[in-house]
Amino acid sequence: MSAQEESQIRHDWTREQVLALFKQPFNDLLFNAQVVHRRHFNPNQVQLSTLLSIKTGACPEDCKYCPQSARYDTGLEKEKLLEIEAVIEAAKIAKASGSSRFCMGAAWRSPHDRDIPKVTKMIREVKALGLETCMTLGMLSEKQADHLADAGLDYYNHNLDTSKEFYGEVITTRTYQDRLETLSHVRNAGMKVCAGGIVGMGEEQKDRAGLLMELANLPHHPESVPINMLVKVAGTPLAEEQDLDPFEFIRTIAVARLMMPKSYVRLSAGREEMNEQMQAMAFMAGANSIFYCDKLLTTPNPKANSDMQLFERLGIEPEPYQVDKTNAEQEAELHQTLLEAKTDAQFYRAG
Ligand code: SF4
Repeated sequence: MSAQEESQIRHDWTREQVLALFKQPFNDLLFNAQVVHRRHFNPNQVQLSTLLSIKTGACPEDCKYCPQSARYDTGLEKEKLLEIEAVIEAAKIAKASGSSRFCMGAAWRSPHDRDIPKVTKMIREVKALGLETCMTLGMLSEKQADHLADAGLDYYNHNLDTSKEFYGEVITTRTYQDRLETLSHVRNAGMKVCAGGIVGMGEEQKDRAGLLMELANLPHHPESVPINMLVKVAGTPLAEEQDLDPFEFIRTIAVARLMMPKSYVRLSAGREEMNEQMQAMAFMAGANSIFYCDKLLTTPNPKANSDMQLFERLGIEPEPYQVDKTNAEQEAELHQTLLEAKTDAQFYRAG
């Protein structure tokens, strides 16, 4: 497949085609991914997001990788939904240290309607600081998604985690279809979608291919695609899982870049265990977003200043947040998103 063909936006991938990308010689795959990356992005800029846990632990779900599930004894300290002032304080620090997006995560199966006024106030106040906003609160009803969108939420994160086939090995308390429905509500409400998955959970390459196939075959590619490496937390059922070959992780990033050329591919959880060379290789493969904070919800992340030192050595700079869009530009974007959402709604109904 030529680099030009690879850069076309497609939504009709077969697993065989995705596996063929995975099986390219490593150097060819990285080169092709870098060519596509350069066509759509500044290759020397990386977008920075900060993630704050706004409600920690005691989650009723059984995701086998997650220290926040109430079903596993991980010694995690639970915290109720944070007060708005604490969230704003953290957002100000994130902005001052160079983040352009502030992500707020709550360990819920889905939010209660009674929590919505508080989280929408958080969204409004964080946006007023000039930051993009993202939330991950579990499954959303249509109405809840509309409330978040009305408050101005830019992104909603909801991961597919893995392939449809492997999913049942990892989570039993909600279905793949539940996840697709939440993504559909998010898109229909006019918000941008952040959806990716976790690798290194004992899945096979065909599952990594299956995850990327599901994401790329959505009617509209997620604007943000986090690729997480499993963080093995003692007390969770996946604590003893075997390490994934680091080159396979880089391959997953490169294939995501080829299949979703215009999406931000985020080098997400697991960065703490990656050396600098591996992170540099991930940027080469097309990753162009990271979490930039000391903690990812509950697991450690590289210190912000070590990230800046690495960026300096690699000649990478943080991507600035374009706050200077005119109203007309914002309206045109919203119009486009809503048009796409209409097509999405038809697709999800058909599915
Ligand atoms: S991943 Fe989310 S839904 Fe699953 S147990 Fe953890 S907090 Fe709950």
